[in-house]
Amino acid sequence: MAKKYVYFFGAGKAEGNMRMKDTLGGKGANLAEMAGIGLPVPPGFTVSTDVCSLFYKNKKKIPEAVKGEIEKNLKRLEIVVGQRIGDPKDPLLVSIRSGARASMPGMMDTILNLGLNEKTVAALIAKTGNPRFAYDSYRRFVQMYGDVVLGLKPVHKDEIDPFEAIIDAKKHERGARNDTDLTADDLKDLVARFKAAIKETTGHEFPEDPRKQLWGAIGAVFGSWNNERAIAYRKMYDIPESWGTAVNVQLMVFGNMGNDSGTGVAFTRDAATGENTFYGEYLMNAQGEDVVAGTRTPLPIAELKNDDPKSYAELEKIRHILEKHYTDMMDIEFTIQQRRLYMLQCRVGKRTAFAAIKIAVDMVGEKLVGEREALTRIEPDQLNQLLRPIFDPAEKEAAIRSGRLLAKGLNAGPGAATGRIVFNSVDAEAWAGRGEKVVLARIETSPEDIKGMNVAEGILTARGGMTSHAALVARQMGRVCVAGCSELAIDYANHTMTTKGRTLKEGDWLSIDGTTGQVIEGKIHTKPSEVLQVVIEKTLDPSKAPVYQTFAKVMAWADQYRTLKIRTNADQPDQSINAVAFGAEGIGLCRTEHMFFGEGKIGPMREMILADTLEQRRAALAKLLPLQRKDFAGIFEVMDGRPVTIRTIDPPLHEFLPHEEKGQREVAADMGITYEKVRERVESLHEFNPMLGFRGCRLGIIYPEITEMQARAIFEAAAATKKKGIEVEPEVMIPLVGHVKELANQEKLVRETAEAVMKEQGVRFKYLVGTMIEIPRGAITADEIATVAEFFSFGTNDLTQTTLGVSRDDAARFLVPYVEKEIYAKDPFEVLDRDGVGQLMQMAVERGRKTRPGIKLGICGEHGGEPSSIEFCHLIGLNYVSCSPFRVPIARLAAARAALLNAPKAAAKRPARLKARGTAKKR
Ligand code: PEP
Ligand code: MG
Repeated sequence: MAKKYVYFFGAGKAEGNMRMKDTLGGKGANLAEMAGIGLPVPPGFTVSTDVCSLFYKNKKKIPEAVKGEIEKNLKRLEIVVGQRIGDPKDPLLVSIRSGARASMPGMMDTILNLGLNEKTVAALIAKTGNPRFAYDSYRRFVQMYGDVVLGLKPVHKDEIDPFEAIIDAKKHERGARNDTDLTADDLKDLVARFKAAIKETTGHEFPEDPRKQLWGAIGAVFGSWNNERAIAYRKMYDIPESWGTAVNVQLMVFGNMGNDSGTGVAFTRDAATGENTFYGEYLMNAQGEDVVAGTRTPLPIAELKNDDPKSYAELEKIRHILEKHYTDMMDIEFTIQQRRLYMLQCRVGKRTAFAAIKIAVDMVGEKLVGEREALTRIEPDQLNQLLRPIFDPAEKEAAIRSGRLLAKGLNAGPGAATGRIVFNSVDAEAWAGRGEKVVLARIETSPEDIKGMNVAEGILTARGGMTSHAALVARQMGRVCVAGCSELAIDYANHTMTTKGRTLKEGDWLSIDGTTGQVIEGKIHTKPSEVLQVVIEKTLDPSKAPVYQTFAKVMAWADQYRTLKIRTNADQPDQSINAVAFGAEGIGLCRTEHMFFGEGKIGPMREMILADTLEQRRAALAKLLPLQRKDFAGIFEVMDGRPVTIRTIDPPLHEFLPHEEKGQREVAADMGITYEKVRERVESLHEFNPMLGFRGCRLGIIYPEITEMQARAIFEAAAATKKKGIEVEPEVMIPLVGHVKELANQEKLVRETAEAVMKEQGVRFKYLVGTMIEIPRGAITADEIATVAEFFSFGTNDLTQTTLGVSRDDAARFLVPYVEKEIYAKDPFEVLDRDGVGQLMQMAVERGRKTRPGIKLGICGEHGGEPSSIEFCHLIGLNYVSCSPFRVPIARLAAARAALLNAPKAAAKRPARLKARGTAKKR
C-alpha cells in the first residue's frame, strides 16, 4: 500500500490520534483526537510532517502524488461541510496552519480566510449580511497571503510593515483613529491597494483562483519551517531539523461575525496555582490574534456565562471531558461562531512548579492518574520552588524591566536573597549582629569565610564553579548562592563591586536569585517557604499548610518507589537535624575540616600546622581531640543510630592559615611567634595547584598523628554515645586514595585506634573503614582497593576535575562558553558526565563488587543531589546518594523517578553505556 500522507478529521471521526505527533505534529494529532472523541472540531485534514522533507527534497514543491491525496481530502471536506472551494454562491473558506511535533509558538506562518476572492467575497456578504465583516476578512487574507506567500515584507529592520503603512495612510485620509473606524468601503479599497502594492513590489499577481491560493499557502507554511525565527528557536530548544512541520487545512470558523461570536484561550486548571478552577480569557466579536495581541482587554472566562450561557456550559463540559481523556491539565483554544462553539486546539498546558506539583497530587485524589504517574510528572528540581524563599514575581520583573539586572552567574544555591552588600566575613557578622540582612560578596570564598556565610542571606562570588567552596558550603547551609559571576569586579580594599560601569558600595541593597543566577541591584521582597516553616522552623501547624501537605504526599509516594537510600552531606548537628527532618537516612559525608572553623578550634589547628616537631604537633592535636570528639558526639546523637560517614582531613593545610598580612600578624601575636615565621610557613605551603598537591590521605600518611587523633575523636565519641544507649555506626572514610597501599596505611591506623578505644572504654560498636573514589587511578584499581575498603563513596567533584583535567575552582570562565558551544551539554560539575566520569564509576562499581560482593557503594560529590546524575547512580546500582540537606527531598523524588522510569529496562538488561536521559535542553 502506498504511504499515507494526508489524514482527515471531522464529523465525529478521525484518521489520526494524539499518539501520532511525529506524523501529524502536536496540533494535528490533538485536533484528530478531539474530533475522534466527538468534540466540536471544525473538519479538515493534516498534511503529514513526512511531506515537509519531501517538499525540501523536491525543490520546494509539493510532490504530485501528495497533491492528489490533498485533492481527495479537499473533496471529502467539501462533502462533509456542504460547501465547495471557490463556489461563488457558498464558498468553502479554510485556514492553513503549521504544527510541528514540539510546540514552536508563533515561529512559523499561518494563513486564514483562504478561498476569498472578488467573487466569493460577495457570497460571504450575502450569507452574513455583513459587508464590513466580509471585507475585513478579505483584507486580512490578502495581507497574510501577500506577506507569507508572495513576500511583501519590510526589507530593513527599521522599516514599517508595508501593509500597515497602507492601512495607516488610509486611516489618515479618512480621519479614522482605529482600524474599527474604517467602513466596508474603506476595507474594500484596502484590498485593492494591497493587491496593487504586491504587484508593484514583488511582481506577483495576487491569485484569484482558490486552488492556486491553496498550493501557494501549503508550500509557504512548509517553507516557514526554515525561516530565521524557526531555525533560531529550534537551536535554542534542541529541536532537530529533520522533524519538519505538518500543515493543517481546516474549515474557517469566525469569532468576528458579530456580537454572538467570539474567541478565547483557557486552561482546564489554574496554570499558576494549580487550583482546580477553569481559567482563561475571551473576547466577543474577535479573532484569535486579537486576544493575544493585547489591543483589546479580554474578559475572564467566567463572564462568558453571561455573554453566551450555552457555549459556556458546553465549554465546562469539554473541560472535564478533556481532563479525563488526557488525564492532564490542558490548554485550549476555542471560537464561537454565531453561538456555536468550536474547539481549535488543545495541548498539555504549561504550568509553574507550584501548579505542577499540586495538579499531580490532586489528580491522584481525583483518580485521574496513579501515584507512579504523578511522580513522573514532577521534575525534582521543581521542588525547589516549594522549599526555598522566592522573589515577589511582579517586583522582580519590574526591577529587570527598569534595567537593574547587573549580571548573571552560576545558579549554585537556589532561592531568593535580598540584603545589603558586605565584602568580608567579619563585616557580615558585624552587620548581621546589628540585625541587618546581608549579602556576602567575595571574589571567591575559603573556609575562613564560613562564619560570614552562615549569617548571610545569600553569597555571591566572582570566581569558582558549581563545586567551588562557596557553592558546596552554601548548599550545605541552605544559603542562596550565585557563584562564578565573572562580570563582577570586586574591590576588597575600597569595599566596592563594579559591573557594566556601575559601582555598588558596602551597605547598598542587592538581590540575588540562586535559582537563575541573576544579580539584581536594589531590594526585592521575598516570600518565605511554607514547607520550611513547617519542617525546619516549626513555626507553622502542618494542618494549616496546604502546600506542605502536598509536599508531604509527594515525599511519601517517592519513598515507596525508590531503591536508592538518601544520605546527606553535613558536618554540624544543626545541618544534620535539618537533613533528618527532610528525610535523610544517614550522613554520607562529614567533612571534618569544616569543623575546624567552629568555636575554639582554629587556634590549636594553626598551632598544629605551624609546629616544628612531632611533640609540638601532638600537643596541638591533644587540644583538638576533645573539641572534635564533642562535634562527633553531637552528630551521632542527632543521627540516632543512622550511619555516619566521617572523612579524615582533606584540604591542603594552607587553607587554615590567613593569606593576608593583617591576619598573619594577628596569628603571630596570638601564638607568641614572629610574623615572619607565619609568613614563611604560609609561603612554604603554597602550591601551584593545591587541589593536586599535599592534601587528602597524603596528609595522614605523612602526619599519621593527625589521622590517629581524628580516629580517636570519632571512636571516643562513638563509645560515649553508645554508653548513653544511642546506637552508633561510624564509617571512617579516607579521601583521595589512588593506590591500595595508601588506604592500607591509613586503615591500619584507624583499626588500631578503634581497638584501643573499645578496650579503654569497655564498649564495642560496629564501624567500617572505606574510601572515596575520586581520582581515576582509584577507580581503575577499584578491585585492589576493595581488598581493604568496606565501602566506596564516589567523590565526583574531584573525580570530575581529575578525569576532565579541569579545575573545579577556576573553570567558570571557560565552562560557561563551553556549554553554550555545546562541547559539554551541561556543566560537568553540576550534571555528571556519564560518558567520561560515569564510565570510570561504572568500572569501579564492577571491579569493587567483584572483589567484595557486599561492598557498600555511594556518592557524596555534589552530583548526589542532581536528578540526572541520581538516575545514573540508580542505573549503575549504587546503594545511596548523599547530598546537601536542602536537596534531600529533591533526591528522594529523583531516586523514585529513576526507579519508575527505568523499571522494565533495568530488570531486563542493563545497557553497556548508560546514556543521559533528558539532558537535552528543556522544551
Ligand atoms: C568530592 O570530591 O566529590 C568530594 C565530595 O569531596 P570534596 O568536595 O570535599 O573534595
Ligand atoms: Mg574530594
